[in-house]
Amino acid sequence: MCIRDRYPRENKRGGAWMDALITGGPAPGEFHPHLGLICGNLTPPIGGKPALLTHREVETIFHEFGHLLHHLLSRVETRGLAGTNVAWDFVELPSQIMENWCWERQALDLFAAHWETGERLPEDLFQKMKRARTFRAANGQMRQLGFGFIDLLLHTRYSPASDGDPIDYSRRLLQEFSPAPLPPRHAMIAAFTHLFGSPVGYGAAYYSYKWAEVLEADAFTRFRAEGIFSREVGTQFRDRILAKGDSEDPAVLYREFMGREPDPRALLVRSGLA
Ligand SMILES: [Zn+2]
Repeated sequence: MCIRDRYPRENKRGGAWMDALITGGPAPGEFHPHLGLICGNLTPPIGGKPALLTHREVETIFHEFGHLLHHLLSRVETRGLAGTNVAWDFVELPSQIMENWCWERQALDLFAAHWETGERLPEDLFQKMKRARTFRAANGQMRQLGFGFIDLLLHTRYSPASDGDPIDYSRRLLQEFSPAPLPPRHAMIAAFTHLFGSPVGYGAAYYSYKWAEVLEADAFTRFRAEGIFSREVGTQFRDRILAKGDSEDPAVLYREFMGREPDPRALLVRSGLA
């Protein structure tokens, strides 16, 4: 079951998120249902018009719905291992994969229409959106790889004795990922709060954003190949990934769904880089 809270209100935190209200699961002779919610701050209905969402907002709904499915479809007995209680670099696979359907004509045609005329999304607009999607994708990719790389190195390799000032050290390494010379006083690392861990958060884990993209772009190739509404692939994704929570190593779950190791090529293709 799920409840929704879509629009901004006074004192409501920004962004969008999913929360588990009740984690149920299988019990001897019965199944306790889960309860979860999606919150967002989407464009509300104004001036007599319905809520007219941007494409990015629609992606956000699909994203959070993916987290919600991960929670609601859990069939794990141990609550601490159920639903979204998975490894940090695996938790965005179920959510990010959902965003792919927002870029498929067949899926968009089910709901994307002009609110007054009912006309479907014009093809030329759709093509423009797809072209804009990969605008400067290589720059974005290198930026994220640089951040992930420096985060890992600072946590695992950096030594004050041999590497010196951490800002200079980071700038030298980040230069490898930048198409232009970084200014001598470049100190992005000083404001990079993702470096610091919390019980559930970061700390040598920034790479997980890019890794989740590798996984979801690759996993979506199965839907691409066998049908984006394929009942068989959808059922396997549910049974082998969503239902399993953290009851098994994510690498094993992924192999069970894909029949092989993750392949980073799908992300490069989707980004227009291969
Ligand atoms: Zn997410």
